[in-house]
Amino acid sequence: MTRISPPSPSLLRRGLGLAVRLVLPERCACCGAPAGGGAALCPACFAGLGFVERPVCPRCGWPAQGVCVRCAPGPIARRRFPLVYADAAAALVRQFKYRDRPELAPRLARWMARAGEDVLAEADLIVPVPIHWTRLLRRQYNQSAELARHLARLSGVACDLAALARTRATPPQARQPSLRDRRANVARAFAARRRLDGLRVLLVDDVLTTGATADACAEALLRAGAAAVDLLTAAAADDASA
Ligand SMILES: [Zn+2]
Ligand SMILES: [Zn+2]
Repeated sequence: MTRISPPSPSLLRRGLGLAVRLVLPERCACCGAPAGGGAALCPACFAGLGFVERPVCPRCGWPAQGVCVRCAPGPIARRRFPLVYADAAAALVRQFKYRDRPELAPRLARWMARAGEDVLAEADLIVPVPIHWTRLLRRQYNQSAELARHLARLSGVACDLAALARTRATPPQARQPSLRDRRANVARAFAARRRLDGLRVLLVDDVLTTGATADACAEALLRAGAAAVDLLTAAAADDASA
């Protein structure tokens, strides 16, 4: 006799969400107004997105002619991001991260692929910033892994969703008052699960703020033998330490 296991609560919730979306018009991820035509944002919010204009600094990814003055050496060789993390772009990324809108992933990934064309072309492996399994249980999906999967599909670059592990749960970075606190909070919180000898790794995350988390991940990747680590995020905050 075949036994059919009941669908998991998260599957039921997803199914219900999908059913609701098929009936109701898509809402703007930023202001909640009807977006229409399956768009993620209404026209006004889309116009408010701050796309990064080229040329950018080859290291930190902020608009500049050549290497800019704010660049300081660190474990990450190059950073790229399509959006400035403010206003509509910040609302969009937060919706994607906390409000269970995984359907925003392909759109964000397309913008990321364009902004990160050069780093993607040279990448051997795409690796997302991991979240601790306790947070994964609460949120149901790792937003960075979603972006990494779509980027791998768009670029043809291999992707290893499990290459990095978060070895301990850390309090949210947003609650850490200073950059020093943020660095201490994530220090040694990541470890590679495999050797990465000679590989140029492209680390993927949703947003770059102080860079403490990305730096801690890059250090773990380099400890595992990676030749270099670049970073591709959907957005970056303007006060990001370069
Ligand atoms: Zn809107
Ligand atoms: Zn720079």
